[in-house]
Amino acid sequence: TPGESSRSREEKIVVTVRLRPLNKKELLAKDQVSWQCVDSHTIVSKPQERSHHRQSSFTFDKVFGPESFTEDVYEDGVKNVALSALMGINATIFAYGQTSSGKTYTMRGVTEKAVNDIYNHITKTPERDFTIKISGLEIYNENVRDLLNSESGRALKLLDDPEKGTVVEKLVEETANNDHHLRHLISICEAQRQVGETALNDTSSRSHQIIRLTIQSTHRENSDCVRSYMASLNFVDLAGSERASQSQADGTRLREGCHINLSLMTLTTVIRKLSVGKRSGHIPYRDSKLTRILQHSLGGNARTAIICTLSPASTHAEQSRNTLYFANRAK
Ligand code: ADP
Ligand code: MG
Repeated sequence: TPGESSRSREEKIVVTVRLRPLNKKELLAKDQVSWQCVDSHTIVSKPQERSHHRQSSFTFDKVFGPESFTEDVYEDGVKNVALSALMGINATIFAYGQTSSGKTYTMRGVTEKAVNDIYNHITKTPERDFTIKISGLEIYNENVRDLLNSESGRALKLLDDPEKGTVVEKLVEETANNDHHLRHLISICEAQRQVGETALNDTSSRSHQIIRLTIQSTHRENSDCVRSYMASLNFVDLAGSERASQSQADGTRLREGCHINLSLMTLTTVIRKLSVGKRSGHIPYRDSKLTRILQHSLGGNARTAIICTLSPASTHAEQSRNTLYFANRAK
């Protein structure tokens, strides 16, 4: 029945919105707030931003205002999706939004909280043996770079493995000995991404970062219910959504020099098609590196959480609206 399919869709893609506070620069420039959360599901534009041809109110599973904590964003928008990877279900958490809207801030926070929860679960489940592996990569200009191997300056190739699907050739995968070790490996990936940022101007607005945990577990004793699980849990800090400007709802022409980001554009198409459901036809996973790498963690039985981050500032009102349009189509 239609009711049933919409319910299962809802469970598979959870879309939340986080509005950050005005930052120092915006406060100094006396920038005005153009968006506000009026309750925990609704975000509206201020009257001066309204016009008859623009939507002024949006509702989501959850919206988080400027005073919210990352803890809230994690609990209400991410936790269930992340923990499903402990039961063998692939999961992906995205941060989507324009540059400076809070993607990295939010993604780091939720990754940290997920790591805590994963190890709490492991402690509480002594009957199972867990192995956690981590890899980290960055996609910049459709080139894949290893974030755990600073030696490898070269772009890594994607290969099609008959069993595993798309794999990144020579990508380093480390096994985490414990939670401290895992946090250390994550911090290496983050530092490595920053090295790239200083070398190439403004890469974080153009590059995607994926931290992938592979979680495997088996029952310690031979029993009748020996089940082993294996799943990927992906934390994806996307390029700034201004790079997807072709999909701007108001048809604004591309700014000079603002190249469309192929991976981001393909991802928005894939997510839109997945959210429409079964009748959406062909899903173009193979059109970009990002969607190829994430194919098995998107759609099918996989679970997805998308956190859309917004600046409240009126100078960013249009980009914020574009982010809300994307979020609306994804839910
Ligand atoms: P992005 O990754 O989207 O470009 P960042 O995560 O780097 O944006 O955030 C831009 C700035 O805003 C950073 O200085 C960050 O610390 C700050 N910031 C982002 N989100 C919040 C928030 N919810 N509360 C407080 N400060 C935030
Ligand atoms: Mg960032």
